Amino acid sequence: MNDIIDVESLFAKNVFTVGKMKKYLPAEVFDEVMKVRSEGGELSLKAADIVAQAMKDWAIENGATHYTHWFQPLTGITAEKHDAFVEHPDKDGNVLLKFSGKALIKGEADASSFPSGGLRSTFEARGYTAWDITSPVFLKEDATGTILCIPTAFCSYKGEALDMKTPLLRSMEVASTQAMRLVKLFGNEKATKVVASVGAEQEYFLVDREKYLQREDLVFAGRTLFGTGAPKGQELDDHYYGTIQERIGAFMKDLNVELWKLGVTAKTQHNEAAPAQHELAPIYETANIAMDHNQLIMETMEKVANRHGMACLLHEKPFAGVNGSGKHDNWSLTTDDGENLLDPGATPNENVRFLLVLSCILKAVDKHADLLRQSASCVGNDLRLGASEAPPAIVSVFLGTQLEDVVKQLVETGEATNLIEGGKLNTGVSTLPDFEIDATDRNRTSPFAFTGNKFEFRSVGSSDSIGAANTVLNTIVAESFCEAADILENAEDFSLAVHDLIKKNFSEHQRIIFNGDGYSQGWVEEAQRRGLPNLKSMVDAVDSLTTEKAVALFEGFGIYTRKELESRSEIMYETYAKTINIEARTMVHMASKQIIPSVIAYTGELASTVESMRNAGVEPYVQLDLLKRVNELLGEMYKALDVLITERESAKTIKSLKERAFRYKDFVIPAMKALRTPADKLEMIVDKDIWPIPTYADLMFEL
Ligand code: ADP
Ligand code: MG
Repeated sequence: MNDIIDVESLFAKNVFTVGKMKKYLPAEVFDEVMKVRSEGGELSLKAADIVAQAMKDWAIENGATHYTHWFQPLTGITAEKHDAFVEHPDKDGNVLLKFSGKALIKGEADASSFPSGGLRSTFEARGYTAWDITSPVFLKEDATGTILCIPTAFCSYKGEALDMKTPLLRSMEVASTQAMRLVKLFGNEKATKVVASVGAEQEYFLVDREKYLQREDLVFAGRTLFGTGAPKGQELDDHYYGTIQERIGAFMKDLNVELWKLGVTAKTQHNEAAPAQHELAPIYETANIAMDHNQLIMETMEKVANRHGMACLLHEKPFAGVNGSGKHDNWSLTTDDGENLLDPGATPNENVRFLLVLSCILKAVDKHADLLRQSASCVGNDLRLGASEAPPAIVSVFLGTQLEDVVKQLVETGEATNLIEGGKLNTGVSTLPDFEIDATDRNRTSPFAFTGNKFEFRSVGSSDSIGAANTVLNTIVAESFCEAADILENAEDFSLAVHDLIKKNFSEHQRIIFNGDGYSQGWVEEAQRRGLPNLKSMVDAVDSLTTEKAVALFEGFGIYTRKELESRSEIMYETYAKTINIEARTMVHMASKQIIPSVIAYTGELASTVESMRNAGVEPYVQLDLLKRVNELLGEMYKALDVLITERESAKTIKSLKERAFRYKDFVIPAMKALRTPADKLEMIVDKDIWPIPTYADLMFEL
């Protein structure tokens, strides 16, 4: 029988929750913390000292020896530098353990080795981390011991954001401010803010660690750079939602326990479409916490996999020929008194507000489709988006049949009185429809799908931070809300103005709605006719960050300065070039040190068989034929290897980051493909005992 897992007592065991703060803090300090959490501002140093002391006591009671400011630099992963609580011993030689309010609130880190895209010259290398008081402090249990982790934002000396967190927090604030204007216009006097909520579903692969370590491509690039498909892929659809194998189940059980301890609401687990692919979804929560938790989910997956003798692959496309992994970013906006602005609601008033909000979101997505596309780009995602397994690189919105029809009627006649199907909700406006959202309507090919009371942004890559995507979403929607509020706050006849605005938004931005098959070639052509951007790769999308439109948007709302945007563009190009460079080097290494020598050994074996058969007076037709064929492919590989070496050398030396990135995309990647093709053909011919690395079948089916 299984041991009993006491989820209630496990949950948030390692988190300094509100409940624990209440217990450990004097009432007035607790109140101050809660006030800063909900209204912003800064904690007084006096209060900070008391909070730090309480945190330290709690942490030490739970075995902590160190604390760290835990942050999310532009590497896309997290960073931490541990400091022990140890202070100078007293005169008797007894050690003192201390943690001050100052150390809690603000940290200083030498930032010179983090990507900054030119924002910080080395002589100004200081970076500062500041506590994000809205995200809970937690304990991380590691081989290093137990560490008190303080979620922080990371900025340069001059206050420029050097991380994923700062812009997200800024965007949440502006989304709240602008959404509140609409909330008030519709008569809600109780709400004080609007919160962006996010639930990020995480896909991943698990492979055996021993085999993983035998493949340099997995170790260095996180994905296979060589390899032919196993005889069986995902064509039988037998893995999706299939019974969870024991070894995987044991991993999932441990993973859940570790996540629950961290206060992560790990909720759903299942096998995904590809062999060896799985998914975990937590319950949605405030966007910045969801971002922290998503990082913890990824990190914990890797750690627990290791413990189980496996490696967790978070790359967007670890294996060619089967599905890659993404991160569906479910997003909605809710008032602090519990009204979801994306929920059609129960009253006529709420239904009209819903239609207005929807029309504003459509407008935002249409106007800034390029930015949304950019926000979901990372190197690995280039192998996934538009590959008939993930949404295309073209951004469009799926509304479902019923809502799409409502929009169509409104646009065509200015009224929408018919409903295709479903029950009724009263809008109280004769020209607007009574409707009910048809939640069963599903479209898996859409990048941005309305799913009942939230939007699901499906383009984000599995390894990527969800920071950029949600920052862009919050900001573009804030802009659209702001424009709507500007009109409606000054309207003489509110109802009429709302109606007109809904119609206007839908009419002007209807082109972004697409309910059909996003995987089809027809859509690519149709999207082009509609004038929607199709930014095929990460590097094609970078310039969207610095268009005048983007700068006006981001500077206008104080999310990024032009300089910050330029720095992020630089980092994008640089990361791209560096990543492909690593992949190319790994291929060169594997080809010259593993694959080619093995194939040569195989040709040697064949040649001696040919010779000995001839000596025995038998004509070795098959062996000779094989030898010729292997030799030809070997020649092809050898030539392709040479080309790849040359292309990489020349790309590497290009000064301009943008040109360098494009050079890698247009020349190095094709050279990589040309090397892989003959190698993969050889894998099919060469004796398995001689083939130097575990195959797709070994990795995906023999766990
Ligand atoms: P799916 O059918 O896509 O699996 P689920 O209902 O299981 O949909 O939700 C997937 C994710 O969306 C979960 O993380 C869930 O918590 C989150 N989610 C549900 N409702 C909302 C909402 N209103 N806002 C944001 N995320 C939500
Ligand atoms: Mg989903």
